[in-house]
Amino acid sequence: MRSRLRSAGLLDIADKLDAGIRLSLEDGVRLFEAGDFLLVGWLANRESEKRNGGRTFYNYNSRIEATNVCVASCLFCSFARLKPGDADAYTMSLDEAWDKLRSRAAQPLTEIHVVNGLHPDLPFSYYTDLLTGFKRIRPNIHLKCFTAVEIAFFADLYQMTDEQVLRELMAAGLDSLPGGGAEIFAERVRQKICHDKCGADRYLDIHRIAHRLGMRSNVTMLYGHIETAEERVDHMLRARTLQDETGGFQAFIPLAFHPDNNQMRKLPAPSAADTLRVHAVARLVLDNVPHIKAFWIATGVEVAQTALWFGADDLDGTVQEEKIYHMAGSRTPEAMTTREIERLIRAAGREPVERDTLYNVVAHAV
Ligand code: SF4
Repeated sequence: MRSRLRSAGLLDIADKLDAGIRLSLEDGVRLFEAGDFLLVGWLANRESEKRNGGRTFYNYNSRIEATNVCVASCLFCSFARLKPGDADAYTMSLDEAWDKLRSRAAQPLTEIHVVNGLHPDLPFSYYTDLLTGFKRIRPNIHLKCFTAVEIAFFADLYQMTDEQVLRELMAAGLDSLPGGGAEIFAERVRQKICHDKCGADRYLDIHRIAHRLGMRSNVTMLYGHIETAEERVDHMLRARTLQDETGGFQAFIPLAFHPDNNQMRKLPAPSAADTLRVHAVARLVLDNVPHIKAFWIATGVEVAQTALWFGADDLDGTVQEEKIYHMAGSRTPEAMTTREIERLIRAAGREPVERDTLYNVVAHAV
């Protein structure tokens, strides 16, 4: 193996990993540029198995996207509609949103994941009532809701600080933050693809505050559009730096760009090889983030399975009713049963472990 690592120009990186020395920006870029991407995967798999053995985590969750009305104009987005009344624009009434949870009364869900567009006309009470209602229906459900971009939007719209927004949402039942909205932190890219929403520093600061208030969160990276390898690694390093400070990120989640029905439709979708490499490099660079998630809705089920040998140790969950990726052309199913997820994980040679949002193991008969 050492001779193969040497001929791929990766021996010094493998030695650093063995010695517990952190990878640099330049190391990360070299991993993206190395010809032998199976070797990059092998290195990542070693790191993954050191942390999690052969276990692959998933959770029994459900997504609710309560509105797709959004004042922002991210070029990669196929989900948002500018105004209420636009074709395909929708905003659920609170009862409609709560009914989504009520209708799953028989399911042993442990998490509700809520993300929305940036709706300009709803009162803040819509969001606090949404959370209180969910907790009234299922007091033990974990509410992982609202990206940092939504938190920043609420703060600006309702004239509060980011911390006040987080505190009020926590008082209403918020348990943790999802990682969406990170896209690529580099300003060059943000200016081109998502110039009118919260910037990288504020995104990270909102996660910093959330961690300080006792919540956990995840961090995502939208890849496969106009970003360079250096910008990908820079993104990972910024997440790593905050993680050094707070320890509050649970998982890093690469999100594949999907080109259908949005303003970047001329770009091709990222290849399977690129997707696998992104997961692998993330595992290698983010030495302080416990989990790398292959979000099967975005990668496709087969690639997500393969990613379990390229550094990923988490397959997200049952999901149910995903709109954001399906409006962008994803051909994955919108839901999987726990039995299907477990079968896919076993078929990939891994051991399925149901977890809750905080990675506690859930004993659950399927
Ligand atoms: S990605 Fe989010 S903020 Fe951007 S347009 Fe879509 S819904 Fe709005």
